[in-house]
Amino acid sequence: MRPEILNRYFASASALKGIGAKVEKTLAGLVRPQSGEPGAADLSARLVDLLFHLPAGVIDRRNRPAINQLPQSGIITIEAQIGQHKAPPGHNRRVPYRVDVFDDTGSLPLVFFHSHGPYLERLLPEGETRFISGKIEWYGGTPQIVHPDHILTADQFADMPLLEPVYPLTAGVSGKILGKAIRQILADVPQLPEWQDAAWIAARKLPSFQAALATLHNPADADDLEPDSPARQRLAYDELLANQLALALVRRHMKRASGRALKGDGDRRRQIVDTLPFSLTDSQQLAVSEITADMSSPDRMLRLLQGDVGSGKTIIGLLAMAAAAEAGTQSALMVPTDILARQHIASIQPLARAAGLKAAILTGREKGQSRQQLLEELSSGQIDILIGTHALFQAGVSFADLGLVIIDEQHRFGVHQRLALQSKSRRPADLLVMTATPIPRTLALTAYGDMDITRLIGKPAGRKPVETRVMPLEKLDQIVDALERAVSQGKRAYWVCPLVEESDFIDKTAAEARFRTLLGRFGNKVGLVHGRMKGPEKDAVMAQFKNGELSILVSTTVIEVGVDVPEASIMIIENAERFGLAQLHQLRGRVGRGTDASSCVLVYDGVLGEIAAARLKIMRETEDGFIIAEQDLKLRGSGEVLGTRQSGVASFRLADLGRHGDLLQAARDDAKLILETDPNLTGARSQALRILLYMFERDDAIRLLSAG
Ligand code: ADP
Ligand code: MG
Repeated sequence: MRPEILNRYFASASALKGIGAKVEKTLAGLVRPQSGEPGAADLSARLVDLLFHLPAGVIDRRNRPAINQLPQSGIITIEAQIGQHKAPPGHNRRVPYRVDVFDDTGSLPLVFFHSHGPYLERLLPEGETRFISGKIEWYGGTPQIVHPDHILTADQFADMPLLEPVYPLTAGVSGKILGKAIRQILADVPQLPEWQDAAWIAARKLPSFQAALATLHNPADADDLEPDSPARQRLAYDELLANQLALALVRRHMKRASGRALKGDGDRRRQIVDTLPFSLTDSQQLAVSEITADMSSPDRMLRLLQGDVGSGKTIIGLLAMAAAAEAGTQSALMVPTDILARQHIASIQPLARAAGLKAAILTGREKGQSRQQLLEELSSGQIDILIGTHALFQAGVSFADLGLVIIDEQHRFGVHQRLALQSKSRRPADLLVMTATPIPRTLALTAYGDMDITRLIGKPAGRKPVETRVMPLEKLDQIVDALERAVSQGKRAYWVCPLVEESDFIDKTAAEARFRTLLGRFGNKVGLVHGRMKGPEKDAVMAQFKNGELSILVSTTVIEVGVDVPEASIMIIENAERFGLAQLHQLRGRVGRGTDASSCVLVYDGVLGEIAAARLKIMRETEDGFIIAEQDLKLRGSGEVLGTRQSGVASFRLADLGRHGDLLQAARDDAKLILETDPNLTGARSQALRILLYMFERDDAIRLLSAG
């Protein structure tokens, strides 16, 4: 149970003065981290969510630059006279409404989208002077302010604080409401005991948790909000320690459940290796021996196999499953999508058969009679290897003796799922997680700090580099011409359309539109898959692409994870500027798998922003996933949110791993030391540490503690 002292922190924001039910709902979407997840529609915004919603900058009214002296970036306040209003012509909603303002040194436009003219005329009467605050943006060498944060008369201005935090906002919540609410909370929440090591805090001159929050919400200076300010460091460290302590508890719990020695004679493995048309690379062999050594020890295996796309993880997983079968137990291989499950069964089944093993598939699509029969074969132990999606761990699925669980493409699963999984197997199964996300070491610690890590280095021999080009959408004709030449030589290509505003629907529409234009040119050589298609339909299209009936596969990002068609040698990614680096790397990894020289075309639309340009440049320069990942982290650190949200890798609210990575190792060491000196978290500091864990909602981990 959450300690009482935290009740106030987790109370709903609707309890605050000035926050009604409707605003509270809007706030939840803005500040509650889980609000984007499925089924989260009813989650409320809690006080802690507001406290952790840190300002993005400050308005500093002490200093008001002249228009010809404006800085390159940041939030500024100017005193200016209002000039002409320029309403958009006709009713064109895409053209913004502009109002020019000026001082003795120059002029600058204020820009408003979808705004109401009469309202702006009242707000900005021509000829009068106003104090205007907002984020400065440079557009073709001239400054402008889009939707200023404040437009005030001299009287109003005199009433404003000289320094004011600016929060990330959403429609329906103003900075004023938010600031007021947060000030109420800060004045009202109870003091908490210090959970950090006192000497450490003193040595680093860090403020207390509350003091740090108070500083960030009432900054004395823009510097207070910088990642290296004492207040930011303090809160980042709190969050990282909660993360590392929780992972350490998970690890201890998983390891405590004593495993068993799965020791085989190596026969099945040998049969599989003999059947392979290639020999394993040194790195693959090393990985297999690390894994089978773990399995044959009585300790439970908790291992992450990290290897770039195409590095050949599947065969390693299969050999581990064969070892489990040699020891008389069953294995489950869980993957995130239906397509992947079918692909795995197709490649694994012949090899398994050659070794006398029975492999089967179970997803939401196996129904009725055949499902029933499969479940019986599973519980009677006739099935050695079961491959499937989440459906593997649903009620009604019971194994005769599950010895090994493998999770492929782990970045779609998180620690929670790992824990849930463990409760499904009656006896603690060994766990192997395989991921193609080349996470930098720092990030790996936050997400897999509970696991041992094996890294696959390099790729199977014979892989050719993928030539990567960046092209503007205006050259579409040229791209399609080149594609036509390639197709006439028998090549196969993916054409990926992006997720638009995280909406399945528009997403599908973009891909369908592109499919139709290509249809005109390529006829029945082009196919389409997207996330909204029914399973069998999807399979049929994938199969046609795999066997060469289709030359071009237009798709949404459903092909991102794990799809393997070695004959495909061209990857075209449309609106590449909207994808994150990790995603681009995953997508490009779909080609360069066969014997043909491969190419990747990154097509961008419009003017490339600085960060998007940097991302595409990195893609052109390297294919090394680990380098890409390090660069990705650096770019993210600069504040840009890349592509769609990646789950699995822990997301932090207060820590910025690009900037606070050094604190992570300290938190890890600290967590280890804490559990060594006070294993059950009963000592004096530990009482406070339990509060820390609840504060950052690591309730799962605490439950493990009381379970012992
Ligand atoms: P990933 O690590 O992305 O899951 P896969 O396991 O799908 O990669 O392997 C990609 C391709 O490489 C497959 O077609 C597989 O058969 C092939 N492969 C795996 N290991 C080797 C090897 N040692 N030599 C040659 N090809 C290999
Ligand atoms: Mg794979």
